[in-house]
Amino acid sequence: LEANFSVIRNEDGPVNGLITVLHDVTEQEKIENERREFVANVSHELRTPLTTLKSYMEALEDGAMQDEKLGPRFLKVTQNETERMIRLVNDLLQLSKMDSDDLRLNAETVDLGEVMHQIADRFEMVNKDKNIHFDRQFPSYPIYVDMDRDKMIQVFDNIISNAVKYSPDGGTITLQMVPKSRDVDIEIIDEGLGIPKESQNKIFDRFYRVDKARARNLGGTGLGLAIAKELVHSHGGYIDVQSVWKKGTTIAVTLPYSAYKKAGGGE
Ligand code: ADP
Repeated sequence: LEANFSVIRNEDGPVNGLITVLHDVTEQEKIENERREFVANVSHELRTPLTTLKSYMEALEDGAMQDEKLGPRFLKVTQNETERMIRLVNDLLQLSKMDSDDLRLNAETVDLGEVMHQIADRFEMVNKDKNIHFDRQFPSYPIYVDMDRDKMIQVFDNIISNAVKYSPDGGTITLQMVPKSRDVDIEIIDEGLGIPKESQNKIFDRFYRVDKARARNLGGTGLGLAIAKELVHSHGGYIDVQSVWKKGTTIAVTLPYSAYKKAGGGE
């Protein structure tokens, strides 16, 4: 809040008035600062893979291409970096859609347990090398939820891919589903690296990472949880984290059974 004070007095006379003008500059300034920070972040996030690409391509041109071992390895790096950039741009496009309120939910009634089983099967298959096991603690009966199937799959993909990334080889990830009266609690519990206390309220912010270098090496864009949070909110639900450093992390999603009734309302 900005305040301007003007003293009103008759010429050389006593003070006989005081005008205070209060401007709410904070909100405007905050938005402007966030916008600036966002543009700086995006530029930085794009420059990093581009710089890597440039140096690897130069090395290939300077002879690495003829090297039987280095050639394919360097090409793989350029491929990975390009893919990460594509993911980043896709994530950005999605966030910008959400920002402009362009987000439409195609709600349908789905059996959440079935969806979660499919996601767990897929992750188990893709991460065979890492030998991750999914412990599925679901009720034996179906849990029907009105939700946008693709968007909620993306939410769980983003959360579970983190759980896999930060889990040790052979680790267990527990998927727990607890139906309540109005909503259903879904917890994704890993026994991985954990998140330090001071970082826990920041992991849903755009581009925030606990360990920037490590997260980038693992292929992250820093936008996964920010997108998950927005999508869960657009369903009228909420998302939370509990974590102990070096012990593991639990991400809890609470989703109302009738998501579409609240859709469009945002948070
Ligand atoms: P990223 O693309 O870097 O994974 P996210 O938005 O998905 O971005 O996550 C933000 C950060 O939160 C990650 O970089 C990581 O530091 C931390 N994080 C998220 N999930 C976990 C987890 N299950 N275990 C440990 N750290 C996590």
